[in-house]
Amino acid sequence: MADNIINSISYESTGDLFVDAGGMALEYLSKQFTDKTVMDLIEWASIVYVKKWGKLNAVFHGSPITHPTTKHEDRIPKTLKRFDEILGKKTDKGFCRFCGKEAYLTDAGRDKSCLVGSGAFVNFHHAHEDGLMICPDCVIKYFFLPFALLQMGNLALLQVTTEKGKQFWMKKTVQKNFNKISRNTSETMLKSEFNNPQNAIFRLAAELINEFPKDDLKENLTLYYFTNFAASIDCQIYSIPQPIFLFMSRTLKSCAKQWYDFVNRHYHISGSKWNEEKGGWIKKNEQMTENEYLNNPNDVFNSLLDGKSIIKKLRDFYKSIVQNQKLKYDSRIAIYYAQEVLNMTNEQIGLIRKIGNKIFDMMQQENNFKKYMVMLEGASRAYQLRTALIKIIKKNYNSGTFEPIVTLEEWVNYLFPDGQYWGEVRDLLLIFLYEKLHENKINADFGDEDDVKEPEEINEEA
Ligand SMILES: [Zn+2]
Repeated sequence: MADNIINSISYESTGDLFVDAGGMALEYLSKQFTDKTVMDLIEWASIVYVKKWGKLNAVFHGSPITHPTTKHEDRIPKTLKRFDEILGKKTDKGFCRFCGKEAYLTDAGRDKSCLVGSGAFVNFHHAHEDGLMICPDCVIKYFFLPFALLQMGNLALLQVTTEKGKQFWMKKTVQKNFNKISRNTSETMLKSEFNNPQNAIFRLAAELINEFPKDDLKENLTLYYFTNFAASIDCQIYSIPQPIFLFMSRTLKSCAKQWYDFVNRHYHISGSKWNEEKGGWIKKNEQMTENEYLNNPNDVFNSLLDGKSIIKKLRDFYKSIVQNQKLKYDSRIAIYYAQEVLNMTNEQIGLIRKIGNKIFDMMQQENNFKKYMVMLEGASRAYQLRTALIKIIKKNYNSGTFEPIVTLEEWVNYLFPDGQYWGEVRDLLLIFLYEKLHENKINADFGDEDDVKEPEEINEEA
């Protein structure tokens, strides 16, 4: 029988997310049962797996816990015997592939770990071992992995980088499991309401941000959506890198309602229509609830995950606010996005706003909004935007205004700096102009952008 090694196990991160998640669960459980040995805890977990949950094939492939040829009553004794052997092993000394610790190693195939080569695929391993050679501590931690997972169709595991992120995931999975097991209401691994991992990671990010409203978390989220099941083994990875997380964090803390107004209209829902008045989806004359569409594809989420800019979507959203005049106009989402994700400096954003204000003053003086808006909205090439701006600058100069719209230095250093996509400057400029239109209750319906005139033609009329 193995000694109680529970106190000697290190819970330092190994870099392997599965081992670390299992370790997080083991650490939590060891604090709940301070009088239990490591074998007691393994037995406790085995009882949960076999007697309460069953169906852990997506985690452990071919282990006594799941193997179809192992009789139900043999599953727990066989598992315990196996761990006894692993902990008592005195051969194969070496360094663990996960944590680097020197120990008597065990081959961890798919029966003990996820997504590794084993059986016929031993060519994955250095010396054609039957699996990754890992230390007993890591085998034990791996065994507790199911407590840290969510069922989402496939399994979901969130990798976080901060201590608060870890606390969040532990509370959401391990602690919740433990509470349910204690109340005898746990019948299966925890199930998420999501089966769409792309949408799920944004919900998890929002929950994490809301959990720590006073903290400015510099988090980096990665969702592993995987299965270790038989022949259908698979893994998809979705990431919210730090800039997008910071953007979401600032947005949710200061303009959450506007964020959801923006995001919700970008679902794809067949047979239904977005209703601007009600700010919701209507199907067969009934307003849909969020639960009915939260797994539908969402263009905002998918663009953010694909690293594509959402500034054009924001621009269209803000324009719809001006046309509708019902929602509050709050350009902070666009500003946060420009700062955190598009890497615009405050000087550049301030300059774009200043130019927008001056163009708006010109529009008011001429009492002609359409002419300038169509010119800027219609700029679909970089040269068209530059031409439009230069014509506006020239007109301002000819009108005898003392202050220039933009100085040469500002133009060169801040307006179009190297590495900045010109279209982002155009879209932010329009967002600031729409804000002025909204403040002054001027309708922004200037006709379809598809049939706007070329900027050159418009200017000749001016
Ligand atoms: Zn190890």
